[in-house]
Amino acid sequence: MVHPKIIDVINNDVCTACGACASACPAGAITIGKAAEIRDPEDLTLYTHGAAPNVCEGCLTCSRVCPVIDGFMDDEFANVEQFFGAKSSIKGQDGGVTTALVSALLAKGEIDCVVAIARDDAWGTELVVYTDPEEIKNAKGTKYTYDSVLSALTEPFDQYEKIAVIGVPCQAHGARMIQENVNDKIVLIVGLLCMESFHHETMIEKIIPEILELNIEDVEKMDFGGGKFWAYTKDGEGHNVPIKDVAPYARNPCHHCCDYTSVFADISVGSVGAPDGWNSVFIRNEVGKKYFKMVENDLEIMEEPKPGIGLVKKLTTMKHKNSGHYLEVCEKFSFETNGIR
Ligand code: SF4
Ligand code: SF4
Ligand code: SF4
Repeated sequence: MVHPKIIDVINNDVCTACGACASACPAGAITIGKAAEIRDPEDLTLYTHGAAPNVCEGCLTCSRVCPVIDGFMDDEFANVEQFFGAKSSIKGQDGGVTTALVSALLAKGEIDCVVAIARDDAWGTELVVYTDPEEIKNAKGTKYTYDSVLSALTEPFDQYEKIAVIGVPCQAHGARMIQENVNDKIVLIVGLLCMESFHHETMIEKIIPEILELNIEDVEKMDFGGGKFWAYTKDGEGHNVPIKDVAPYARNPCHHCCDYTSVFADISVGSVGAPDGWNSVFIRNEVGKKYFKMVENDLEIMEEPKPGIGLVKKLTTMKHKNSGHYLEVCEKFSFETNGIR
């Protein structure tokens, strides 16, 4: 049996744990741990399912949907058709645009469901398939910890016809690979901006209590801004440390990732490039244009937000520069590089 190439991805610790392979595998052979690193590269139980140790059928579907094997884009802005600022009436991380967008599309019946991450007071997270436009508002706010969003698509693929995916760049990329190669029920991909993410345990046991010296249950919001990592407590206080104090604790695949703006999404949404309280929005194709147009009247729009796309480009260049190890892996295993050199 030919080994899927994702074995190389996993062995080299560049698997992002996006979950695309898990939801695309026709044999149900792949399970994803919360942390990619908990997988033992020598232990192929990753490819076991229940009591059937050799369930992998060698169809290589997983290798066709893996964003790491597909590679990254050198120019993340070549497909940006529109860039502007936007803000909703929903109190979200910044402008609440992502939540407002999918909530309105659910209400209009334009999408049947969206997979998103909800959290509790102790920042424990859960993947939820939302179909209710009001309930999706519970998922608002950036978590900075990682959940395997695409692995939760198995059930929606059976039950729904029009699925929206919200995810960080590796998940937006995996969703595009699934849509192009396996399942066209994904009708909209909303990608977020992402410099890095953290394992839950690292955030809850190290960064918040030891580095910021806070109780996790007191924290209401986390954010990156002005060269600092911020945690805002329920009493309204903002606490921060320099990003350099937390960045080394990011998940290993994030240190090798060359996508900052979700170049494979239909619409990308972030906060960088727009003023406080606003989102930066990147429309990347006709699908993005079509869905955004359906909801734009519910939003405030800022045509030329400051500090603007220049800052986003600067951070993108920085991320690409810091991800050199990825190229060594590509070279070793002949992965695509999609232009990144
Ligand atoms: S090769 Fe096919 S059966 Fe095996 S894990 Fe990959 S997708 Fe599943
Ligand atoms: S598809 Fe995603 S979860 Fe699967 S091996 Fe590739 S990066 Fe990892
Ligand atoms: S940096 Fe963000 S997009 Fe890249 S692998 Fe990490 S979580 Fe995924």
